[in-house]
Amino acid sequence: TSAIEVREVTFHYGNRQALNGLSFSIGQGAKVALMGPNGAGKSTLIALLNGLEQPSAGEVAIFGKRISSGNAHLLRTRVGVVYQDPDDQIFSPTVGEDVAFGPRNLGLDELTIQQRVTEALHAVGLDGFDSRSPFELSYGQKRRVAIAGVLAMKPDVIVLDEPMAFLDPKSRDQLQQLLEKMHEEGLTVMVATHDVDFAAEWATDVLMMKEGQLLASGTPELLFDAE
Ligand code: ADP
Ligand code: ADP
Repeated sequence: TSAIEVREVTFHYGNRQALNGLSFSIGQGAKVALMGPNGAGKSTLIALLNGLEQPSAGEVAIFGKRISSGNAHLLRTRVGVVYQDPDDQIFSPTVGEDVAFGPRNLGLDELTIQQRVTEALHAVGLDGFDSRSPFELSYGQKRRVAIAGVLAMKPDVIVLDEPMAFLDPKSRDQLQQLLEKMHEEGLTVMVATHDVDFAAEWATDVLMMKEGQLLASGTPELLFDAE
């Protein structure tokens, strides 16, 4: 089974069509670059992948399980989304509490929650940040807290919206290493990005969207054919 299967998906905001018969499938462990101009439908697709929105028509399946309004809350734990702006995702007074939020919602016991927090903070290079206030951290550190919060849920698929935006070159390198580590641990990783060089270097699969449809999909070589 595919990690992500999108079949003939259409999505409307009121009478505005954001996705128009979108279909693709992604294998487990892929590194996917989701590309396309603003308004192409990337954010809408991301909202459908973790069950935040339901398709107007068509279907989305994660590891063969179709997302419906009834099971969306379960799939939200399988597909973790890191939004572009960490300030949309961080709201607890301490880093530790923030990263614990997801696992606590899963109803895990306190010991397991604390283990997951420690592991996730280690993975993003923020060991010992548990009792710090997230609001006094740098933008790059905040983004890593948001990523840790998602990793602590132990998702199968992680989707990051423009994770490199506003980072200095050193933070970008660290983040790229972290993406590689996620891949090595078997996660299917999707990154929405405008950065052609990054996509060419990092991705195994490229999805190029335009006006709610797939303009092209395949290996990164297609980046050098498409406009
Ligand atoms: P991208 O993430 O690629 O920039 P979006 O998914 O945000 O694309 O947008 C796809 C289309 O849907 C655009 O035409 C956009 O204007 C429209 N759209 C996005 N969000 C909303 C919304 N909340 N209400 C109405 N239209 C929206
Ligand atoms: P988009 O790429 O979706 O058009 P923007 O580029 O406007 O979005 O910015 C995304 C978010 O990042 C915004 O909420 C903005 O406040 C925030 N942001 C923009 N520049 C910086 C920066 N240099 N440092 C921290 N946050 C920033």
